[in-house]
Amino acid sequence: MNDTTPLNTAGGAPAAGKIMLVGIGPGHADHMTARARSAIAEADVVVGYVTYIKLVADLLDGKEVVRKGMTEELDRAVSALEAARLGKKVALISSGDAGVYGMAGPTYEVLFQAGWTPEDAVEVEIVPGASALNACAALVGAPLTHDFCAISLSDLLTPWPTIARRLDAVASADFVVALYNPKSGRRTRQIVEAQRLFLRHRRPDTPVAIVKSAYRRRQHIEFTTLDRMSEHDIGMLSTVLIGNSNTVVQHGLMVTPRGYANKYDMAEGGSTRDGEKAGRSLSTGLNGWLESLIADHAAGASVEQLAQAHRLPVDYIAATLAQPPEAAADETAEESEA
Ligand code: SAH
Repeated sequence: MNDTTPLNTAGGAPAAGKIMLVGIGPGHADHMTARARSAIAEADVVVGYVTYIKLVADLLDGKEVVRKGMTEELDRAVSALEAARLGKKVALISSGDAGVYGMAGPTYEVLFQAGWTPEDAVEVEIVPGASALNACAALVGAPLTHDFCAISLSDLLTPWPTIARRLDAVASADFVVALYNPKSGRRTRQIVEAQRLFLRHRRPDTPVAIVKSAYRRRQHIEFTTLDRMSEHDIGMLSTVLIGNSNTVVQHGLMVTPRGYANKYDMAEGGSTRDGEKAGRSLSTGLNGWLESLIADHAAGASVEQLAQAHRLPVDYIAATLAQPPEAAADETAEESEA
């Protein structure tokens, strides 16, 4: 039951149209999922940016193919809906993952505007794919093994102050960052501004990897540092990975430690450090930290001093101190660190 008019009931049995948002991965067929291939194979119509259509050329025999330019995303979503209303299966292809700076968002926006709901005769399926950050990380080592985030430097649809605020926030919070859409023919200054914002919080020698056309014919990888980053060749097909304060480059591999060294003595055959226990939170984990916070406060440190020492908001420290720590959890409770 829904209040949209089903357009596909002409001639009796309703044809079940479908929109499939297919992420085809970074570019090489080996890195496309089996479902992505079968979704494209099952489609009557395949819609996508010319470059991505080329990447799946072998799957397109006998299909209607709609090649669109970069800036026609909403058109693409509208034409997909029109075709699906006629009972066709439409595959909208995105590079990487369709939900990461891809067509999934604009498509749902167009569908909502057209009155579509999940109960509609037109079915929608999103087929996940490996995003550029997964592909680029795999090529350079293990840069994303700790907290990371993605920021797009494209100001085509996002105001610069929004982008700059996010860059500033993640730079100060020591995230590993994957910069999407770092630079284009017309957008050349954004990467310089990003570098400037990062250098306010991060060391100039912070490792940076620039990966161009991962798993494509012109794949190119460069390692550099934050202070040199903008001097390198960066373009529309590059993703820039900026390490956190612990990231290292060794033997040509960029690696961000998970934190094992906080708990185990890696040189001493992996024995547990004093005060630490395998499978339990660090001594500086929440409970251990609370105990030291309470002790420091009792010894005379003010809430403001504690907030400054831990670089946390004063009201957060005050609220935490106001709440007694939980009783120690069951000693047998074990948790995996892998
Ligand atoms: N949906 C895509 C992202 C589209 S935005 C995904 O999930 O990967 C386009 C940006 O993605 C490019 O500017 C570039 O920063 C990045 N990108 C996409 N494919 C890439 C590849 N093969 N190698 C390096 N970066 C890539």
